[in-house]
Amino acid sequence: MITKPLTGLMTKDELIFERSKAGKKGISFPKERIFSKPLAARIPDLYQRKQTTALPEISEPEIVRHFVNLSRKNFSIDTHFYPLGSCTMKYNPKINEEIARLDGFAWIHPFQTPETIQGALQVLFELQEMLCEITGMDAFSLQPAAGAHGELCGMMLVRAYYHQRQDFKRTKVIVPDSSHGTNPASAALCGFEVVTTPSGPDGRVDLIALEKAMDDHTACLMLTNPNTLGLFEKDILQITRLAHQKGILLYYDGANLNPLLGIVRPGDMGFDIVHLNLHKTFSTPHGGGGPGAGPVGVKKSLIPFLPVPAIKKKNSVFELDSNQPHSIGKVRSFFGNFGVLLRAYVYIRTIGSDGLTQISRDAILNANYLRRRLEKLLEIPYNDYCMHEFVATVRQYKSKGLHASDFGKRMLDFGIHAPTVHFPLVVEDALMIEPTETESKEVLDQLVEVFEIMVKEANDDPESLKKAPYTMPIRRPDEVQAARKPILSWRDYSQDLKRPSSPDMPSTG
Ligand SMILES: *Cc1c(COP(=O)(O)O)cnc(C)c1O
Repeated sequence: MITKPLTGLMTKDELIFERSKAGKKGISFPKERIFSKPLAARIPDLYQRKQTTALPEISEPEIVRHFVNLSRKNFSIDTHFYPLGSCTMKYNPKINEEIARLDGFAWIHPFQTPETIQGALQVLFELQEMLCEITGMDAFSLQPAAGAHGELCGMMLVRAYYHQRQDFKRTKVIVPDSSHGTNPASAALCGFEVVTTPSGPDGRVDLIALEKAMDDHTACLMLTNPNTLGLFEKDILQITRLAHQKGILLYYDGANLNPLLGIVRPGDMGFDIVHLNLHKTFSTPHGGGGPGAGPVGVKKSLIPFLPVPAIKKKNSVFELDSNQPHSIGKVRSFFGNFGVLLRAYVYIRTIGSDGLTQISRDAILNANYLRRRLEKLLEIPYNDYCMHEFVATVRQYKSKGLHASDFGKRMLDFGIHAPTVHFPLVVEDALMIEPTETESKEVLDQLVEVFEIMVKEANDDPESLKKAPYTMPIRRPDEVQAARKPILSWRDYSQDLKRPSSPDMPSTG
């Protein structure tokens, strides 16, 4: 009879190498020779290992449990609520995955000729058309692999546009101080000088400061609307008109299109270039550096500069057109992240245009419901009707030594992923909360309850918050070291690497 739980047997945090035991096997290869010669004899001596690999030896059920248990230590959208502002961590319908795994899609080789991949090209072509319709733009390129990559591509389009007009004096790009960090980074990476303009007292673009910043040297104004505080720029038409009068292009960071679908279109607001984050708004699992897609859309005047090849349709045949003399060239190999593009296509097709509008209405409703409930517990500096997200602050607890990240860490104990903390920079000790449309009222109410508990703890026992989380396998890592000097292997392999001219590796130089 088992009197004690089997702790140590199933739940002990052992590495796969520590579980390894010589001679254990997860897979058995057939003994018979399948080839006329044993396989090893068919491989040139040069390429044969001189010693066996240091792989762990373990049975199949053990390895399955090892990785499933590891995966359960993590947060994911399938296991936890994830109010991570600006990241739009919403539920990803499983039908996207089913379609993405169909053999006809999953096994295409990128070097196949267009005649043999007409179906895939049709998906890409129709996705381009749907994104044009959703955003009010005239053409899309699906190549960029992430939001920041889309921004860089957009900045290259801006440069190509002015250079073709022999206008070399426009070297500056304006970004508001509340912009996403990738905006100034992308502009700078493309060689532009970044000019930052301040937000006004209502958290929106300060029109007077903006007008002052715009001159003959300004190439582009990069904006997000709603901005990073979750607020809609009400003066957007005035802003885009003003910029166009001065010959300035307008770039729209559409990473967070979630509150706009079927309601407002960047193209109608007057933007010339947009990028979208399909891995946010259009439901691809993301986070942890997984694949994304940041397609870029443009108005007519910028179409000649888009990346090649363009996917076109001629007499109901889909083809790749690289004959674009003014194109900025390729920004990514082949077609972009096809699997992500396909998931977005399935998502849009299954949800339909009415569904898209409903998504945005629900995202806005959920965010405003939470904002109105949390304003009784937390300070909300720009407390105005918000779009898909809002920003609260815990700066009133600074004197107790508490910061936004302490609240974020504590939330993990309640099974809720932390919100985005310490961003945007215009709000000190910010908690940026985006519930998304896929969460129910009950889940939102649970978040409010968790904040009730945390606010009580902050007032009565701030030390307890500082030590959180209590239930996670790792509690307070040195975040800088963890990012800059991660330990990624079981033991120090540097010794192996130092072995003189590794005999089992053919020289490539
Ligand atoms: C997420 C995000 C980006 C960057 O997108 P990545 O795919 O992470 O490169 C840019 N702008 C805004 C507003 C975002 O929320």
